[in-house]
Amino acid sequence: MSREVRTTVKVKIKSVVITSRKRRRLQQITGRDTRIINHYVKTIYHNKDKLGSKHGKKKVNKAKLDHLTLTTSKKTLTPPRPTVRHDLKKRFPRCSQNELQECRENAVAIHHSQQQTMEEPHHTYLQSKLPRTQLAHRKRFVLTCSPNNTIARWWLGIRDSLDSKKNNTTTHAKLWLPLACSPYHEYKLQQGKIKALELIYYPKQREWWVHFILSHSPEKYTSSRPPAVLGIDLGINKRAVTALLTPKGVIQRHEIRFWSDKTRKTMLNQHEQTIAKMQKKLANPAISTNQRQTLLRQLKSFRKKKRAEHRLTDHTYVNKLVKYILSLGKRYDLYVVVGFPINIRKGQFRGNQRPYTRKIVHLWNYRRVIELLKFKLSLQGWEEHRILAIGESWTSSTCSRCGSYHTQRPTQPTFICNTCGYQLNADLNGSKNIAKRLVKYVLQPKYSTIKDLLTGKYFPLRLFRVFTVLSQWL
Ligand SMILES: [Zn+2]
Repeated sequence: MSREVRTTVKVKIKSVVITSRKRRRLQQITGRDTRIINHYVKTIYHNKDKLGSKHGKKKVNKAKLDHLTLTTSKKTLTPPRPTVRHDLKKRFPRCSQNELQECRENAVAIHHSQQQTMEEPHHTYLQSKLPRTQLAHRKRFVLTCSPNNTIARWWLGIRDSLDSKKNNTTTHAKLWLPLACSPYHEYKLQQGKIKALELIYYPKQREWWVHFILSHSPEKYTSSRPPAVLGIDLGINKRAVTALLTPKGVIQRHEIRFWSDKTRKTMLNQHEQTIAKMQKKLANPAISTNQRQTLLRQLKSFRKKKRAEHRLTDHTYVNKLVKYILSLGKRYDLYVVVGFPINIRKGQFRGNQRPYTRKIVHLWNYRRVIELLKFKLSLQGWEEHRILAIGESWTSSTCSRCGSYHTQRPTQPTFICNTCGYQLNADLNGSKNIAKRLVKYVLQPKYSTIKDLLTGKYFPLRLFRVFTVLSQWL
């Protein structure tokens, strides 16, 4: 079974064009939801012992929670409960049963996450606004496209938001909200199936946003093609070097690639220089308080911009890599293995006499690159065990031809083996070794599983049986 992947698409509500009544309604809905969720969280906290499930697990029993909070007049399923201890229907009369249950789900999720992270869960009132997750399978909302509408192309209709009671009859008031949907958003929304949404208010910008939660269920990746392992050695100057190990050995000519990104390197240097200049100005004791505050504000916004730019370059570079991997996947039964530098930052402490190395090692964002690679491939239907991060220690100083440790690196890029005289690029040697290391792990098993260092998951060796063909190249 291939894993289901969830993504979020964030779309802004055109709050400029909506009426003040609608805006007030939005405020009312989210405020009321927050109060209900808080009420649930409190109830769970004070009745923790009663709500524990049967098998001694810590999970909250939702049926028992309903017994405490919701009245019922149904005679068929459960005995009718005309009164309960914490009557939510009485307290929030304009809220529908479905909305109450959605709030319950959120409160239970909050309680569970608190249980995992804290020793003693909170029972204090949570101050910030808590978004309620509205589920699609209950038909709580509709998303419609109206191409001829001049206000907005896409409209979100939220059902029975704030029911109004008149003369003992409940009317479901629908709320239609115009969305600022760009072609990008339209494309993203078509990629998966909408599972749920959340209405979120950003008080600083005074903006309303809808977060759509999509699920992707990619097709399973199967093939009868020859097995191959793509070794990726992540680097700092060269962003990555890839080498492909197939039943015919490491393919020399076309499948060895150096992924460098010169624009990013110059950009990084420029940003560092600008920051250094600003910090130098700040260190001057003669400047006034106003100047200092302005400088601090500038520094903050510049750092934000820098982070955004780095994220963008990472995405473009990983997209290129993914495109290449997918093209290889058409020809081979491909497994991708990335060298994961463990403890590389440990030696880079202040005063180790290597300030330049220290700086570039700490700026190196290998973890984000591997995470992005994994995520983007999972969207294309790749199983988790087909892309692994394994330790890369000693791969740069071992000969990839004879396996000798008696080697030298006269300069950073060149690698020379003293045993067999093999000479090649050092990063390329590393990527070959990484590809071979995975095969070695599988064929000479010290342990019965392989650990992925990024996620910490263990995969059984039977998933990698195809590697017997590759044994001759070790
Ligand atoms: Zn050698």
